[in-house]
Amino acid sequence: MTLKDKTTVTFYNGLTTIGGPMIEVAYNKSHILFDLGEVYRPELGLKLEDEDFQTLLKYQLIGDVPNFYDPKVTGKEIDTERWEHAAAFISHLHLDHSKALNLLAPEIPLYAGPITAEMLPALNEKGDFLLPAAGHDKTYTRPIIAAEYKKPIQVGDLTMEVWPSDHDAYGATSLIIKTPDHKKIAFTGDIRLHGYHPDWVHEFLAAAKGSDLFIIEGTGVSWPEEKHDDNSEEFTGPKNEVELTEEIVRLQNINPKRQITFNTYPTNVERLLRIIADSPRKVVLHAARAHLIKRSINEDYPYYYLPGEEKFTDLNPELEVAYEELLHDDHEYLWQAVGDYNHLQEGGLYIHSNAEPLGNFDPAYKPFVENFAQHKIEYKALRCSGHADEKELKEIISEVQPAILAPVHTLHPELEENPYGNRILPKRGETITL
Ligand SMILES: [Zn+2]
Repeated sequence: MTLKDKTTVTFYNGLTTIGGPMIEVAYNKSHILFDLGEVYRPELGLKLEDEDFQTLLKYQLIGDVPNFYDPKVTGKEIDTERWEHAAAFISHLHLDHSKALNLLAPEIPLYAGPITAEMLPALNEKGDFLLPAAGHDKTYTRPIIAAEYKKPIQVGDLTMEVWPSDHDAYGATSLIIKTPDHKKIAFTGDIRLHGYHPDWVHEFLAAAKGSDLFIIEGTGVSWPEEKHDDNSEEFTGPKNEVELTEEIVRLQNINPKRQITFNTYPTNVERLLRIIADSPRKVVLHAARAHLIKRSINEDYPYYYLPGEEKFTDLNPELEVAYEELLHDDHEYLWQAVGDYNHLQEGGLYIHSNAEPLGNFDPAYKPFVENFAQHKIEYKALRCSGHADEKELKEIISEVQPAILAPVHTLHPELEENPYGNRILPKRGETITL
């Protein structure tokens, strides 16, 4: 047996930072890379057009991964003698897991769950979501193969399975890789137990049980100093997605004669669909959001345009609601406000549900909130995290009981422990042999 006949795992990026995990599993002449995101560092002030390959490497926004990136981007050929079989995978459509997917060499197949595969080209329609592919217009999104859930995909000697999971990105998935030397490697992607589908998560964890290596995100242990901060909105707000939707319904019921508007994050489609389904009022979306939903899941919902906005040809004209009608309404509609806040009614209610600006760390947040107060509109933040908290992480680990635990995607990987075996804290670029 040579080293080539053993399973190796290399941790290229996204280890002691939140986001951007890039990890390679290899056996003999086959290898798989996951994910293909970019670490989010707004403080660098980089614009999409500044983000050339060398800049991305310099700031460690992506990993320096050999034999996967497009030679047109790196200037280095892929060693096809060493590697006969390659594939890549992205767990979900958040930018810290997907933004660099166009850098993947065109001949290497890229897999994702079906919803992720469908939505990413729609999100990148204007060319402002993903990094551009070499030799293509910025609106181009390279082909993504929609993986059938739980169905084995062969990549040379390696077998991978994509499992539906739960996170605040619609269609989020987890991954299991099996190798010829009977090693099982599981990767959570971003995960939580308090979303709409804890049952899916438990099913994935059962399949991952006894993994030789369990790679887990640890966003929830990143701020140990804030753990007992009972004044934070996270603690006074809803405990899970179901409670969050219930609260939005309750606010409509107790305010029969009051203008109510809201906003959510574009990629959290499921929350929006639940709000639409459960609300006693008729929910009206901004046209851009209605278009994203139409392109992603081919469903039509009532929508409106702000004055002067360009029309989308794929939206059903019968579902358009006049903006003036929304501005004067106080009982019929719950509508998505995305701007022009100064024209909302005094005494109205605006619900900010993990929409942008996301929070205090964004300099735009404070003035955004203050503007509502100035116009005598009640501002209510209703949040629900996409990530498992410390307790949920323990529960997740206890369901898998891995031989080796590798925490990634966290400011404090050392705070995640493995009572069932070893815990490793790999360095950037480090390879381990299983
Ligand atoms: Zn995410």
